[in-house]
Amino acid sequence: MLITHDTRCALETVVDLVNTAPEDDTAPDGLPGVAALTEFVRTHKISDVGTLSDFDLSAVRRIRGRFAGIFAAPDARTAAGMINELVAAAGTTPRLTDHDGYDWHVHYFAPGASVADHLAADCGMALAFFVVAGEQERLRRCEAPDCRRAFVDLSRNRSRRYCDSRTCGNRLHVAAYRARRKEATG
Ligand SMILES: [Zn+2]
Ligand SMILES: [Zn+2]
Repeated sequence: MLITHDTRCALETVVDLVNTAPEDDTAPDGLPGVAALTEFVRTHKISDVGTLSDFDLSAVRRIRGRFAGIFAAPDARTAAGMINELVAAAGTTPRLTDHDGYDWHVHYFAPGASVADHLAADCGMALAFFVVAGEQERLRRCEAPDCRRAFVDLSRNRSRRYCDSRTCGNRLHVAAYRARRKEATG
């Protein structure tokens, strides 16, 4: 499937957003306050969202939970239902643009949209394209037992099982190394 620049940015953004959620009740939230959200918006170059407030923070945390659900969806139909709800609630306005020297592509967030609606619209549509392409299973959560981080598996044969955090990435390498050694000696 064709992944445009904006889709790729939206995917990175939504994965990072989902992964700011605390892993359990005792872990700290990766978006503890408005300042952290402002930093997130700056890092991910989310434009035109104005000055952020506590209202934005709680709205973003709410859609974060919904995005997490999409990454955990067992099949395309479940994911499609969740994406439809998310995108409809954001009041999308598809609009062609060729800003900043990029080729023509579509932005989905409505002009003046809040940061939560902006994320729901553009990231929601980025995930929608995976369902359309029959690639919903590329939207994954890490299979390491103590890790539920979200990631998008862009490997050719959809074989990635672990997120690219250092621990889980290493775990994968160690397991592969052991398997190879076992094969060689066994
Ligand atoms: Zn764009
Ligand atoms: Zn992991």
